[in-house]
Amino acid sequence: ASLTAKTRSLPNILITGTPGTGKTTTSADIAEALNLKHLNVGDIVKSEKCYESRDEEFDSYILDDDKLIDEMEPMVEDGGCVVDFHSCEMFPERWFDLVLVLRANTEVLFDRLTERNYSEKKREENMTAEIMQVVAEEARESYAEEIVHEVQSNTVEDMEGNVERVKQWVAAWKQNNP
Ligand code: ADP
Ligand code: MN
Repeated sequence: ASLTAKTRSLPNILITGTPGTGKTTTSADIAEALNLKHLNVGDIVKSEKCYESRDEEFDSYILDDDKLIDEMEPMVEDGGCVVDFHSCEMFPERWFDLVLVLRANTEVLFDRLTERNYSEKKREENMTAEIMQVVAEEARESYAEEIVHEVQSNTVEDMEGNVERVKQWVAAWKQNNP
């Protein structure tokens, strides 16, 4: 199978990053601005029960990757999706035309995760993951270098800039894929 689905009439965009970096807020804005479909993968995992079990210690789900991919395939195959998830290595490479990795400073993330009432353990785990650039490295290992873009998501201005950047990128994609 080819890596890029040339049959898509609209691109698929993946918004990834450590929890709290702003994926859902940014994805919703992009979807609204460009009339695309926002797929919050965490919600799909829960509603379609795409997990093997729940990890009580880490307060998270052990994903059933195969089930998740099967559920999502028909949603993404025609393009036009903004996919929002804190991990990215399980998705087929061919699904995405653009991968944005949102980044946030440690203090910013601390405040956001505290506000979200994360346990201290979960907060520390996510802050360490952000400092260690776990999601950014995962994205670079999973997708072609030229489609992966790391962007800051500390301020509202950052977010507006990121939405604007995606708008321009989609406009260019449409020109190149008439
Ligand atoms: P994620 O989906 O990555 O876990 P959210 O989009 O839920 O993150 O954002 C977490 C919190 O941080 C929300 O309260 C949101 O309003 C805020 N937030 C997200 N991105 C930004 C940003 N770039 N600037 C300011 N606040 C932000
Ligand atoms: Mn989210």
